Amino acid sequence: MPKLGDEYEDLRKTVEAFARDVVAPVIGDFYEREEFPYDIVRQMGAMGLFGLPIPEEHGGMGGDYFALCLALEELARVDSSVAITLEAAVSLGAMPIYRFGTDAQRAEWLPRLAAGEALGAFGLTEPGGGSDVPGGMRTTAVLDGDEWVINGSKAFITNSGTDITGVVGVAAITGSRADGRPEISTILVPSGTPGFTVSKKYSKVGWNASDTRELSFSDCRVPSANLLGERGRGYAQFLQTLDEGRVAIAALSVGLAQGCVDECLRYVRERQAFGHPIGHYQAIQFKIADMETRTHTARLAYYHAAERMLAGEPFKKEAAIAKLVSSNAAMDNARDATQIFGGYGFMNEYPVGRFYRDAKILEIGEGTSEVQRMLIARELGLADL
Ligand SMILES: Cc1cc2nc3c(=O)[nH]c(=O)nc-3n(C[C@H](O)[C@H](O)[C@H](O)COP(=O)(O)OP(=O)(O)OC[C@H]3O[C@@H](n4cnc5c(N)ncnc54)[C@H](O)[C@@H]3O)c2cc1C
Repeated sequence: MPKLGDEYEDLRKTVEAFARDVVAPVIGDFYEREEFPYDIVRQMGAMGLFGLPIPEEHGGMGGDYFALCLALEELARVDSSVAITLEAAVSLGAMPIYRFGTDAQRAEWLPRLAAGEALGAFGLTEPGGGSDVPGGMRTTAVLDGDEWVINGSKAFITNSGTDITGVVGVAAITGSRADGRPEISTILVPSGTPGFTVSKKYSKVGWNASDTRELSFSDCRVPSANLLGERGRGYAQFLQTLDEGRVAIAALSVGLAQGCVDECLRYVRERQAFGHPIGHYQAIQFKIADMETRTHTARLAYYHAAERMLAGEPFKKEAAIAKLVSSNAAMDNARDATQIFGGYGFMNEYPVGRFYRDAKILEIGEGTSEVQRMLIARELGLADL
C-alpha cells in the first residue's frame, strides 16, 4: 500500500473524525425516515469537501481527484448516502462543468457547487436504458433561435430534486452524425426552469438518505449558451466523466467494505456463544480475514487507477477493474458482516443492515459489473473478434 503523503493523511483523518462524530450518530434516523440530511451536507460544504478537486480560482480547495476518493472512502465507512451525495455532486455534477464548461459556465456554477451551497447532477440514464446509452436515449434538444428546446425523460438521477439542487447536466440527442449515429450533446438545465419537472423520490432498497428522481422535460427552453463544451461531444464527455466516476465509486465501495470489517471487529469481541466471544471461533476469524483481504486488494486497485489518472496515463481498464473488484468486495463483505451479526444484522438499528442494503447498487450504478467486464475485455482487444 503506498504511504499517504501528509496532506492526504490529514484530510483522511479529518473526514474520518467527521464521519464518526457527526454522521454516524444521526444518519440511521435520516435513513429510516428517507430524509435528505441537509445539515450534514451543509457541514461537508463548510469543510470544503465539495470543492476538493476543483482549483482555488473557481472556489475549490485546489486538491485532486484522489483527495476526493479518500474523503468518499472515509464517509462510506460510516454511511453511503452521504458519500454518494458527495460523489454525484462533485464527480458527475461539478467536474464536467470544470472540465468542459466555458469560462462563463464555470464562473456561474463552480463557486456555489464547490462550496456545497448548490448541488449538481448528471442526467444520462433514461427509462429505456442505462448500459446502452446511445441505443436507449430518446431525449432530444433542438436549437430554436438562441434557445435549446428539450423533450424527454431521465431515470434514477442522483441529487436532482433536493432543495439545494442547482443544475443538471442533461445528455440529449441534438442531431445525426455523418455515420448515421445520434449526435449527443450535454446541456445545463438549472433547477426550476419551466418545462423541467422533477418527480417525487423513488422508494429505494438502499441509499435511503440520498436523493434519486425521475426527470421529465416538456418543451423546456434554456439559452443556447447552456451547451456544455462543443456540440456533439456529449458522448465523449460522459465516457470521460464515467471513467473518473468509477474510481470514485470504487473508493466508496472500499469504504463500505472497510466499514463492515470495523463493525465486525468490535462485535465479535463482545458477542458471546458457547462460552466464548464469537471471534474465538475460526469460522468467524476466517470470514473476517477474507473481508480484510478483499478490502485491502480493492483499495490497492483504486489507488492504482487514481495514480494513473493523476499521472495523465490511460486508466480506463484500471478504473473498470477497481470498480468491479471493489463493488464485489462491498457486496461480499456486507453479506458476511450481516451473517456475523446474526439476527441483529437484520435489524436496521445496526449499521451492517444499512451496509447490506447499500452494497447492491455498487454493482449497478455508473456501469454495471457486466459493463465493467465489457470494458476490460475491450481494452484487452477482444471486442472485434
Ligand atoms: C440509486 C441510483 C442512482 C443513480 N444515479 C444516476 C445518476 O445520477 N445519473 C445517471 O445518469 N444514472 C444514474 N443511475 C443509473 C445507473 O447508472 C443505471 O441504472 C445503470 O447504468 C444500469 O442501467 P439500467 O438500469 O438501465 O440497466 P440496463 O442497461 O437495462 O441493464 C440491465 C441488465 O442487463 C445487463 N446488460 C446490459 N447490456 C449487456 C450486455 N451487452 N451484455 C451483458 N449484460 C448486459 C446489465 O449489466 C444489467 O444487469 C442511478 C441508478 C440508481 C439505481
